[in-house]
Amino acid sequence: MLAGLLYIWEAKMIYTLPDLEYPYDALEPYIDAQTMEIHHTKHHQTYIDKLNTALGDYPDFQVHLVNQLISKLDAVPEAIRTAVRNHGGGHANHSFFWPLLKKDVDFGGAVADAIEKQFGGFEPFKQEFSNKAALLFGSGWTWLVADDSGLSVVTTANQDNPLSQGKTPVLGLDVWEHAYYLKYQNRRPDYIEAFFNVINWERVSENYLAARI
Ligand code: MN
Repeated sequence: MLAGLLYIWEAKMIYTLPDLEYPYDALEPYIDAQTMEIHHTKHHQTYIDKLNTALGDYPDFQVHLVNQLISKLDAVPEAIRTAVRNHGGGHANHSFFWPLLKKDVDFGGAVADAIEKQFGGFEPFKQEFSNKAALLFGSGWTWLVADDSGLSVVTTANQDNPLSQGKTPVLGLDVWEHAYYLKYQNRRPDYIEAFFNVINWERVSENYLAARI
């Protein structure tokens, strides 16, 4: 009985919810505090709980970082592959997303130079990113990714992550309704516009430089 309880406790602790680097109201008025709190403590936590449950019977896969799991989904046992794809992706995506958010950071740094070269300026980049985010049908994410050919904007459905396609995320935007519905309801384009006020370009540059190594 005790061993069983310990086992359940250990299984539940494989992954844990990362703290935010800022209070829930730090992104007001662009992203409201209530959305941030529910998104972090409920939605992100649920992905973690379901990922931990899926991995409970697979100790060989509990040692990997979640990004390693979703980078090599083919290596994950078929019985839990969909759960790892969805809930591991959910954990990876949200863990990546939170540190990207900060008010009052100017567009600049290494990634700004690269964006200007690749897209012909900030505005054409913003337009492409915003259009793809607005047109993405259903739930998913919009990303700025790096691969061998440079930077590009891609979208993924559900909680899929570009790592599963051999691309490294540099910037990402959650366009699931749970990310914006309380404040913006059906106005996803307004949420996308607001997002451009809370991008931590210093962190995006760090991601870009790490992706090139
Ligand atoms: Mn989300």
